[in-house]
Amino acid sequence: MKIFFDLDGTLIDSKKRLYNLFCDLVQENDLSYDEYWNLKMNKVSNYDILKDKYNYSSDKVENFRSIWMSKIEQRKYLKYDIPIPGVGNFLRSLSNKHDLYVVTARQNKEGVLWQFNRFGWMNFFKNVLVTEQKRTKIQLIIEKVEQNEEIMVVGDTGKDIICGKSFDAKTVAVLTGFLNYQNLVEYKPDVIVDSVLDIKI
Ligand SMILES: [Mg+2]
Repeated sequence: MKIFFDLDGTLIDSKKRLYNLFCDLVQENDLSYDEYWNLKMNKVSNYDILKDKYNYSSDKVENFRSIWMSKIEQRKYLKYDIPIPGVGNFLRSLSNKHDLYVVTARQNKEGVLWQFNRFGWMNFFKNVLVTEQKRTKIQLIIEKVEQNEEIMVVGDTGKDIICGKSFDAKTVAVLTGFLNYQNLVEYKPDVIVDSVLDIKI
């Protein structure tokens, strides 16, 4: 089987990276890590927080957005990312039986490969697919699958589930990322698991 894993929130915990960048960019921030992630996991975006809590104007929000995008994949921030506990061994054993892919909406492939080197994950994947803001995940996956092939798409967001359903893939939602159970269940994934380690294949 071909298994397509999302990266952030699925194989990697990137919550510290995002929170630290938010703190660096928003001087007014008085939200703790837990308070920030409670809001985000209930689908309150950075922009909602800035407008509603800190009274940012549209221009100021736009300025935040462009600086956020320029910094979010800098190594200084990528260093905060940690693998979901146990995921390295899980991927190693799974890669012996199945073809594994990563498909991520990151802007830069270099940062992903740099992290995979650090984590020792380089040999687990047939291919690392990065949208780089030019393609969609759906377009990248289409190129890798044959008709009627058995595939699985694993991710932490509604977008990942919608993507998987467009291929008739088995869809698995994980709770290690940016949405909670109540929000994920709306997208009707085939399975919702605490983490990728709980996937039964
Ligand atoms: Mg994700």
